[in-house]
Amino acid sequence: MSLLDRAIVRVLPAVPRSVVRRVSSRYIAGASLDDAKRVVGELNAQGKLATVDVLGEEITRAAEAEAIAGEYVAALEAFEREDLDANVSVKPTGLGLKLDYALCKRNVERVIAAAEPSNRFVRIDMEDSSTTDDTLRLFRELRDEGHARVGPVLQASLMRTVDDAKALAGASVRICKGIYVEPESIQFRDDEAVRRSFVSALEALFDGGCYAAIATHDEWLVEQALRILRERELDPDQYEFQMLLGIRESLGDSLVADGHRLRIYVPYGQQWYEYSLRRLKENPKVAGYIAADTLGRLVPGR
Ligand SMILES: Cc1cc2nc3c(=O)[nH]c(=O)nc-3n(C[C@H](O)[C@H](O)[C@H](O)COP(=O)(O)OP(=O)(O)OC[C@H]3O[C@@H](n4cnc5c(N)ncnc54)[C@H](O)[C@@H]3O)c2cc1C
Repeated sequence: MSLLDRAIVRVLPAVPRSVVRRVSSRYIAGASLDDAKRVVGELNAQGKLATVDVLGEEITRAAEAEAIAGEYVAALEAFEREDLDANVSVKPTGLGLKLDYALCKRNVERVIAAAEPSNRFVRIDMEDSSTTDDTLRLFRELRDEGHARVGPVLQASLMRTVDDAKALAGASVRICKGIYVEPESIQFRDDEAVRRSFVSALEALFDGGCYAAIATHDEWLVEQALRILRERELDPDQYEFQMLLGIRESLGDSLVADGHRLRIYVPYGQQWYEYSLRRLKENPKVAGYIAADTLGRLVPGR
């Protein structure tokens, strides 16, 4: 984490909302479901799939969590009505995990009930390490209760992840680096160690017959994943690549051109401002990426 990244995060609260909106509009579909539908439609037209995230993590009342679940239900109904190729990604804390496990599970079940009739998938995002065990428990309970189109996320930066991958045989699992900064006792800090863990976890998922959603914009990791796919002679229906909206689009385009499935993570919601600031503060490295990207656009040829 560089000094520049930290400096960017320190000045963030002083940046006018309109500027944050302009910068974040590249990474967030907008405030409303209509915004999300428009972006999903554009992605589908480019041969890309979507997984849609309703923003709203820091909730303090059951009614807020239920409202977010309701928004997911509305989104899923709209995707079906308008023939859009999109799944959803839910955040357990947004659906009430920190208030009450049973409330969160009821809300996830409600989202699944809206997704299942149209064969849509519900991905359970992984949040900070205080939620890892409960999130994996939630997934296992739902799977054991007969829900086949639901799956968790593993974060390669956590030291436990390769073991978690081995324990998830047969599941559909998204593997990513992990965005949350955790205590050094449980998280690799060295970028190369995170990459090695990502590759080992991906191998463990395929060893266990999992469907892997390979979520990264790191070209080195994409190359490693392509090598593993070739060596194992996997078919395009045994994995997919995933990327965040607005990031490294040319890398995504080349994967699609080569016949790989690519799903784009599309966040939307009223809380776009809070979400943008929180993400940047949680991981100052992201602030550095965005600053470099924005500067690159303002100063062509840089
Ligand atoms: C589809 C998807 C779902 C995810 N779900 C989760 C989740 O459930 N839990 C979780 O903890 N994390 C999640 N993440 C985030 C992930 O853990 C990483 O923080 C993020 O993907 C950056 O890691 P990277 O592998 O792209 O490698 P990096 O080395 O961090 O990035 C490679 C390059 O991509 C570009 N880049 C990466 N991120 C950004 C950004 N935010 N803004 C601008 N440029 C960027 C930069 O050019 C950078 O050099 C998800 C990521 C994706 C793609």
